[in-house]
Amino acid sequence: MGFEVSRRLSQLPPYLFAEIDKKKKAAMAAGKDVINLGIGDPDTPTPGVIIEALAEAARDPATHQYALDNGDPAFRSAISEWFARRYGVKLDHESEIYPTIGSKEAIAHFPLAFLDPGQGALIPEPGYPPYRGGVVFAGGIPFPMDLKKQNGFFPDLDAVDTRLAAMSRLIYVNYPNSPTGVLATREFFQKLVAFAQKHDLIIVQDAAYAEMAYEGRALSILEIEGARERAIEFHSFSKTFNMTGWRVGFAAGGSELIAGLGRVKTNVDSGIFTAIQRAAAVALKHYDALVPPLVEMYRRRRDTFCGGLSRMGWDVVPPQSTFYVWIPAPKGFTSVEVTLKLLEEASIVTTPGSGFGLAGEGYIRATLTAPEDRLALAVERMKSLKW
Ligand code: PLP
Repeated sequence: MGFEVSRRLSQLPPYLFAEIDKKKKAAMAAGKDVINLGIGDPDTPTPGVIIEALAEAARDPATHQYALDNGDPAFRSAISEWFARRYGVKLDHESEIYPTIGSKEAIAHFPLAFLDPGQGALIPEPGYPPYRGGVVFAGGIPFPMDLKKQNGFFPDLDAVDTRLAAMSRLIYVNYPNSPTGVLATREFFQKLVAFAQKHDLIIVQDAAYAEMAYEGRALSILEIEGARERAIEFHSFSKTFNMTGWRVGFAAGGSELIAGLGRVKTNVDSGIFTAIQRAAAVALKHYDALVPPLVEMYRRRRDTFCGGLSRMGWDVVPPQSTFYVWIPAPKGFTSVEVTLKLLEEASIVTTPGSGFGLAGEGYIRATLTAPEDRLALAVERMKSLKW
C-alpha cells in the first residue's frame, strides 16, 4: 500500500541481529558447516530444576490468568532476598523491584517514563541497540559516548559536552559490558554517580551479564553510595540461567523510577506468565549450584578461543566477563569486511562492531556460545585466511 513508516522508526537501522541471521541461514541453506559466533544466545539448555518448576507451576490454574500489577509477590521477595545475598543491598520488594519480560523490553520502554521529545540521553557506543531504539521511540535524542580501548572501555565522562549533559535526562551504562567484556570498577561507578548528581541525570545500568564474571565479581550500581534513588538497573535470567526464550528479568532501583517504569508497562503489557515467575524464583534459589558451573564452562571456552587467536598473532584481550570477545579487525579491513570474509571463506558468523554504533568500527564481536571443539575449529579455519 506504500505506507510510510513513522519518522521515529525510520531513524533506526534494521535490527542488527535479524540481518546477520538472514546471512547465516543463506550459508546454511547452501550446505555450509556454519559456526555461529554471532548472537549471544546460550547453546546449553535451561537447567532441569527450573523446567520442573515451570511444569509444576503450569499445572496450577492459579497461574493461568493475567499476571497484572507489579509481578508475583513471592517472586519479588525471592529477588529481594537473592539481591541482598548477592550484592549486599536490601531492596524493598514492593517499591524497588519490578519483574520484566526479559530485560530488553524494559530497557526499551523505560525512556517513555522519563524522557520527553527533544530531551537527550547519553548512551554508550558501541552498545546494545535498544538503548538508542528506546530513546528514539520516546522522541528523545541519543548522544553517544564512545567506549575506547585507551579509556579501558569506559566512557570519558570528563569529555562529555556540558551542553549535551544539560539537555539530557538519562545516562546509560552497561557493565559487565557488551561487546567489550570489561567489568566496571568501583571507581568508575562512583565517578558515574557523581556525574549524574552534578547533571541531575537518571542512571540506567544494564546488568544483563552481571552473573558472568571470570575475574572478581560484577558490582551493582545500587551498591554505590548516592545511586539508590537515581539509578535503575536491569537484570536478566536470560544468560545467567540459559533462559533467553523464557523472557524474564527484573528492574531494581529507586522507587520513583520503578513506579515510572511500572506506569508505562501497565499500559503496554499484562505481565509475565505467573508460572515463569515461579520458575524464575526457583532459579534464584539454586543460583549457587547452577551458575558457577556455567561460568566455568564459558571460561574454558574463552581460554580456548582467545588463546588460539593470540597464538595466531591476533591482538585480543580475553573478556573479564560476558561471553563476548571483542576482536580488533586486521589492519586495512573494516568491521563489515572482516565479518563477511569470515562468513564467506570460513563459514564463521560474527558481528561487525559497527553494528553497535560508529565507535564499534574497527572491531568484530564473537560469542562463546558454541562448544569448545567448535571454537577450536573456528580458530583452525581462521589460520588459513589471508589478510
Ligand atoms: N543487555 C545486553 C547488553 C544484551 O546483550 C542483551 C541480550 O542480548 C540484553 C540486555 C537483553 O536480554 P534479555 O532481554 O534476554 O533479558
